[in-house]
Parts: sequence; C-alpha cells; structure tokens
Amino acid sequence: MRILVAEDEKKIAEFIRRGLKEEGYAADTAPDGEEALRLAAENPYDLALLDVMLPKLDGVEVCRRLRASGFAAPIMMLTAKDRVEDKVKGLDSGANDYLTKPFAFEELLARVRALLRPRPADAAAVLAAGTLELDLPAHKARLDGKPLDLSAKEFSLLEYLLRNKDRAVSRTMIVEHVWDINFDTGTNVIDVHITHLRRKLGENARRKFIHTIRGKGYMLKADV
Ligand code: CA
Repeated sequence: MRILVAEDEKKIAEFIRRGLKEEGYAADTAPDGEEALRLAAENPYDLALLDVMLPKLDGVEVCRRLRASGFAAPIMMLTAKDRVEDKVKGLDSGANDYLTKPFAFEELLARVRALLRPRPADAAAVLAAGTLELDLPAHKARLDGKPLDLSAKEFSLLEYLLRNKDRAVSRTMIVEHVWDINFDTGTNVIDVHITHLRRKLGENARRKFIHTIRGKGYMLKADV
C-alpha cells in the first residue's frame, strides 16, 4: 500500500514516513500543497495524509482538488488545530478521517489500517487463496492454518498480489503500490522478495501460489 504524506514540518514528515515504512507501507512526502498534487497526479496512491496548514495550497484545498480530479483513495487530514470548523471544512472537502496533532503514532497507524481495510461491500477483511490467508486487521498471515512469519515488506507484497489474484501484475505495478519513490529501478529487489515469499509459502512442483508470467510479471492464482 502506497501512501502520500503532505506535511511541511520536516521532522514530522520524516517521523511519519519512517514509521509507515517500518510497518511495510511505501510512503512519499510532499512539503507543500502543490507538490502533493503533482505527486498524486503521477503515482497511484492508496491513501493520502494531508496536513491542513501547508504552504502554497492548504490541505483542505489539496483535498478538494484531489477529489475534483477523481482521486478515489481515502484521505486523512492532519492538523495542529483542534477546532470544530476545521474538521467540518476538511470532511466537507472530501476527507474520510481527521487526526489532531500531536498524535500517538499507534493511533495514526490504527486509523491508516482502518481506512485501507477493504469495505465490507467489496471484499472481506481476510484475503485468501486456498489455505493461504491474510488477516488484514490483525496483520497476520496463515498457511494451512499455521502462522506465516513474513517481513513487513513481504506482507505488503503478498497483500498486493492477493488483492489482484488471478491477474498478472507487472513489476512496475508492484513497485508503484508496494515501494516508494526512492525505489532503485536498476535492482532486482522485487524478484528477490518474490523468491523469499515463495520459499516461505513452501512452494514446490505440486503447489504453487505465485506464477511467473513471461513478459508480464507475476500472478497469484486463487486456485492452488
Ligand atoms: Ca503544517
């Protein structure tokens, strides 16, 4: 899951970016409203965190323009001000949630998880392929009923493959959703992660989850 963080206070932006990264999210930071809009136009974000007080364009205006341009991912506003009218303005401009600074990082994470959780209408909170299960709220993976020990990045990668099961996803698509803007395209880091995942999934000739699709990328098959 890739997250856009628009925050002009460098220390806070870096604190959020690093914290999200440790949880396996890919996060890009924008120091002002215009940069946030530019990044959002170029990258497929799954969530945006917008500080209200931003230089050039404030967070409420960024939110309004994102929604006007068809940005469909959840948006959470961050603000130092705990004023009712700011919350109303933020929510009226198309935000889904609101967090007042200073906040505990655990609370930010819980809200991010809630916003990224599949809606009951379109999917279950547990993604599955055969006996491979990813429990998103609990952030736990299981295979044949036994817990799977995955790194944060492996979990994100598997989540992305499961959300797109039976569809071939290219390395570019994987990079755009699982890694951040600092990804070095010259490396084989995706293939390395896929290899690790396959090993942890105990793949063999009889049971294979992740299939290599020549010229396209990878496909996780639901029917294993
Ligand atoms: Ca600010």
